[in-house]
Amino acid sequence: MIYDAAVIGAGVTGAAVARELSARGAKVLLIEKEAEPAFGVSKSNSGIVHAGTQNPPASLKGRLCVEGNRLIREKLSDELALDFRQCGQLIVAFEDSEVPALERIKADGEALGVPGLRLVDRAWLDANEPNLNPAVKAALLAPTAGMISPYRFVHALVESALLHGAELKTGRRVTAIKRAGDAFELTAGGDTFRARYVVNAAGLYADEVSSLAGAPSFKISPRKGEEYLLDRKREHIANHIIFPLPSASSKGILMIKTSDGNPMIGPTAHETADKEDLSTTAAGLEEVLSGARRLVPSVSAGDIIAYFAGLRPACGKDFVIRREAAAPGFVNAAGIQSPGLTAAPAVAMMVAELLKSEGLELDNIDDGAVRRLSPAPRLQTSTPQEIRRLIEQDPAYGDIVCRCETVSAAEIRAAVKRGAATLDGVKFRTRAQAGRCHGGFCTARIMKIMQEELGLPAAALTKRGPGSEIVKGERL
Ligand SMILES: Cc1cc2nc3c(=O)[nH]c(=O)nc-3n(C[C@H](O)[C@H](O)[C@H](O)COP(=O)(O)OP(=O)(O)OC[C@H]3O[C@@H](n4cnc5c(N)ncnc54)[C@H](O)[C@@H]3O)c2cc1C
Repeated sequence: MIYDAAVIGAGVTGAAVARELSARGAKVLLIEKEAEPAFGVSKSNSGIVHAGTQNPPASLKGRLCVEGNRLIREKLSDELALDFRQCGQLIVAFEDSEVPALERIKADGEALGVPGLRLVDRAWLDANEPNLNPAVKAALLAPTAGMISPYRFVHALVESALLHGAELKTGRRVTAIKRAGDAFELTAGGDTFRARYVVNAAGLYADEVSSLAGAPSFKISPRKGEEYLLDRKREHIANHIIFPLPSASSKGILMIKTSDGNPMIGPTAHETADKEDLSTTAAGLEEVLSGARRLVPSVSAGDIIAYFAGLRPACGKDFVIRREAAAPGFVNAAGIQSPGLTAAPAVAMMVAELLKSEGLELDNIDDGAVRRLSPAPRLQTSTPQEIRRLIEQDPAYGDIVCRCETVSAAEIRAAVKRGAATLDGVKFRTRAQAGRCHGGFCTARIMKIMQEELGLPAAALTKRGPGSEIVKGERL
């Protein structure tokens, strides 16, 4: 079996590329080293669909961010049944002397094609963002920004790729890439796969994967971001995603809205040499709290229910999306730092064009032929009438397993049927275990359902893949 294209890495970039290529008729293999897709950088971010401001006008990431934002709003939300919500973003100025900086960001954004940008004054802010620091003088409103569940976005892209005939192999780290005749031979997890073209979407490890292919042309330098999630009772603390004026190296500490209702504050931005360092720190908490309180003074440490860190896979200031002369047929989609979540659908289109210029035959995409996904029903976002109908269809929708987030046994079963193979996989798809008790009440029940669906003993179930088993022995 020779695949048309092998895509290394099932984060948002690889998933979007696999979907784009498979929807255009290519036979695609998506290979991931972790137990499930979206277990890399794509699970640990702010979930913002950026409008496209705060990027240099001539940058690749700026152009692809604006296009990715448009594709998510106008096409993918519908085709993939995404939970995208367009809430808009504000960049705020605390001094009249900072207003020219907002005007510069507006002009740069307009040069990139960001629609609808406008400056708003204090009266507008009083009416539309009542918890904002009264010291804020003015803001730049970008109405096309929004929020999305980053993991559900990746899962939808993967599910769509599979519907279009792609194959997914998880738990397989690519450790060797060599040329064998007119194809590449990839060694991964003890298996060998053959593909005519290879796309490297390996996130933090993209430099190492490019070296495997004989193109050691760049280095990934991780930049850590700590994020702090607030209780859903503070859901309405802000109506927009709120940014301070950006610095040279970061967009600053933000007040973020998430698609699940919990506000979030962060992220920090600090270089680290360690690609596995996902620790959070007291200093990070202090930096995030004081940055967030500057925007919205009523944020309190007592609102925080969870925290995490993610590592931006940075390579200089821009994305690295290119063919490699040293390895014909091999395309890098690397250095995908922020706004990589937003840009992914546009990155995928660019990668497809690069592969076409290398000789891969691709159909022109026909919107009518794209297979749509149906949304997985969720009690938390359903009306009482919808909930009654769901329970009539399947009484397991009335069997609440996760009380913090109101997740039923039926939703957990559906998540396992749609690919969740670990406890984290269930959490990212359904929110079960993501509330205040962090799974204290529901983990054992979820594991029982997983045992029934997967036909596995309890000892084989893991939190996030081999090495994270929950119980020893056979019975819960
Ligand atoms: C704190 C933080 C906040 C952010 N906020 C935002 C935001 O709000 N909006 C936005 O647009 N962007 C944001 N970003 C950026 C965004 O998260 C990334 O750009 C994006 O997730 C990168 O996706 P990726 O698929 O390239 O990488 P990843 O998600 O890391 O995917 C790469 C995959 O490759 C796999 N892999 C690696 N090596 C191998 C191998 N040898 N064999 C097989 N598989 C391999 C990994 O396991 C991983 O799953 C943020 C990033 C951070 C860290």
